[in-house]
Amino acid sequence: MKFTINERYNNLSSYYKNKYGKKVFKVPINAGFTCPNLDGKVAKGGCKFCSAFGSGEFGGNKKDSFQKQFDEVKERMHQKWPDAFYTVYFQSYTNTYAPLPKLKELYEEAISLDSNIVQISISTRPDEISQEIVDYLYELDQRIDVQIELGLQTIHEKTANDMNRAHDLQSFIDAVALLRSRNIETVVHIMDGLPGETYDMMIETIKFLNTQDIQGIKIHMLNILLNSKLGREYLKNPFPVLTRDEYLKVVVDQIAWLRDDIVIHRLTGDGDPKYLIEPKWIMKKFTVLNDINKRLKQLDLYQGVYYNNAKKHRWFNTFTSTWLFK
Ligand code: SF4
Repeated sequence: MKFTINERYNNLSSYYKNKYGKKVFKVPINAGFTCPNLDGKVAKGGCKFCSAFGSGEFGGNKKDSFQKQFDEVKERMHQKWPDAFYTVYFQSYTNTYAPLPKLKELYEEAISLDSNIVQISISTRPDEISQEIVDYLYELDQRIDVQIELGLQTIHEKTANDMNRAHDLQSFIDAVALLRSRNIETVVHIMDGLPGETYDMMIETIKFLNTQDIQGIKIHMLNILLNSKLGREYLKNPFPVLTRDEYLKVVVDQIAWLRDDIVIHRLTGDGDPKYLIEPKWIMKKFTVLNDINKRLKQLDLYQGVYYNNAKKHRWFNTFTSTWLFK
């Protein structure tokens, strides 16, 4: 993939503009799902970093109709972008965690909210992707673009266990394979700065994802929130949190390691100031993004440059290399 001096990675807004011809914005819909990691199906208590909103701080109010939730966001967004398409986004909790007829009812209602909806994006856990869901998503994908967002956060089982994620890496691998067997666009969500994770571990997560058939990634810094278990632990017993400079270093190197066909949906988080304990620096989202771009320029790095060099290196050292590429 060719990047320019100003666009050093495959970013979501350019991807949408190329695909749909105009700005596309995401409209979160809260359908009132819960999560198998909260209700005891796989575990209780949920992921430690998960907030009381099921990691969907800016999602709508589940008591409101879909139409009301959608129209409120659309109206706000239209002040900034009067002419745009929409992705209807099931964000909070586990949005495939219901019997199939219920899922069908909710998704069908959501895609019919507005004639300018071009995509449905569904955020879920890898262990809540089944053959019957994927078969239905395939049929839906023939009518409207479907995107599935899988929460992974890290490939490292120790961190995942410490965070009570309650699914293993194999369920993620299986879910990606199942989704891709039906050509469903798959986006992965990862978090930097999880307790106990080193720079090398965060880079390893990216290297592993390069081996998976994924189309998009969301990367952001761990948010420690007041209304989460991790937040309560942090207040009692604070642990080291990545500084802004440490995050910039790791995220820029992750971009350079990431396969260049993968679309980067996010490089920063949107911590709700009412609940955010640390890190406070994430609140300056645009300056963090600017500094990522500046650092890429200063170091003359592009998405995938380390990955491509490593592949080339392997090409010349076929018998000795330990790099793992498909
Ligand atoms: S899987 Fe998602 S919704 Fe469920 S506890 Fe973890 S972060 Fe929260």
